[in-house]
Amino acid sequence: MDKIWVTRSSMPSYEEFIEKIRPLWETRRLTNMGTYHKELETQLKDYLGVPHLSLMVNGHMALEMAIQAMDFPEGSEVITTPFTFISTTHAIVRNRLTPVFCDINPNDYTIDADKIEGLITSNTVAVVPVHVYGNICDVEKIEEIAGRHGLKVIYDSCHAFGETYRGQGIGCYGNASVFSFHATKVFNTIEGGAVTFSDQALYKKLYNLKNFGIQGEELVVGVGANAKMNEFSAVMGLCNLPEVEKNIALRKEKAEVYLELFRGIQGLKLPDFHRRDVKQNYGYFPVLCPNRETRDHVYNNLRQQNIYSRKYFYPLTSQAACFGEKYAKLPLHIAKRISETVLVLPLYPELEYENIERVADIVIKTIDMRGIV
Ligand SMILES: *Cc1c(COP(=O)(O)O)cnc(C)c1O
Repeated sequence: MDKIWVTRSSMPSYEEFIEKIRPLWETRRLTNMGTYHKELETQLKDYLGVPHLSLMVNGHMALEMAIQAMDFPEGSEVITTPFTFISTTHAIVRNRLTPVFCDINPNDYTIDADKIEGLITSNTVAVVPVHVYGNICDVEKIEEIAGRHGLKVIYDSCHAFGETYRGQGIGCYGNASVFSFHATKVFNTIEGGAVTFSDQALYKKLYNLKNFGIQGEELVVGVGANAKMNEFSAVMGLCNLPEVEKNIALRKEKAEVYLELFRGIQGLKLPDFHRRDVKQNYGYFPVLCPNRETRDHVYNNLRQQNIYSRKYFYPLTSQAACFGEKYAKLPLHIAKRISETVLVLPLYPELEYENIERVADIVIKTIDMRGIV
């Protein structure tokens, strides 16, 4: 039987891509903020409805650069969620800042805004929340607290491409917002990412950070890295962007099939796609099982049938082997429970109805069986 992965990369037709990249064989301008880079930056700004946007080589570097651009003193504390892809935490640590992990709320798995204030010290400089699975954080409360304490807010919006909250692009919130265009995301440029922001001064700062601080042939104004997006990636983005809305609509259809098949099943917590004022992107279909054993059984039973679900996000980033026991005693009870019981099921625009049925069938049977035992 064919393997079913948790996601499947969106691609234009081969002919469309080849036609679009053909001019590169004339110009030989393959990178360094070329024509396609500029065009994609403009189109993305427009699509995301954000004032400013800086393209990056990937989402992780976009996070690192967005944090670095804030010029925080070394060793400062950053309040963040442990229920995320390890990249979020690494971006903080690699900036020589200290992550302070805050528990999440049990409804949408985003950072529990009510617990942020208790973690603020005189060393706190920022909050880095994550719109996990495209669930929008409590942006009002987070920004109210941040404002009162003079903290910056940098959102990891890697799961929230194309989403809006109260009619505004999600990238408009906070001091900066970061997107990933990795092959596995709702929108991809093979590898890629972007920072969005409203303070225009950040554009030049990020430009320097992603291009060695080079301002002119003989002028280097800052210590920068190399995090530029190349032209092949930009073309991939230009081909994929017009398809995003159609793909989100297809994802929505598939997600609704799952919801229908799982209706009334005891012991399975389903994602809530009907949050007020949010336009969703249906990037993920996370379910909560009754306990860890059942979750692992479901995962294994799916795997035996060539279906690759993912334990996103297990373990918590605070429990990553590289941190040893450093964060072992933190009261992250809800995050721990969610992380031990969550499973992300396959969801992508072309997922066939029969395969959704196959997945749902295995999930339901496993949960039923475990219930009896
Ligand atoms: C994908 C992702 C990243 C990293 O993006 P890359 O483009 O893979 O570097 C960071 N945070 C979250 C939440 C992600 O899902």
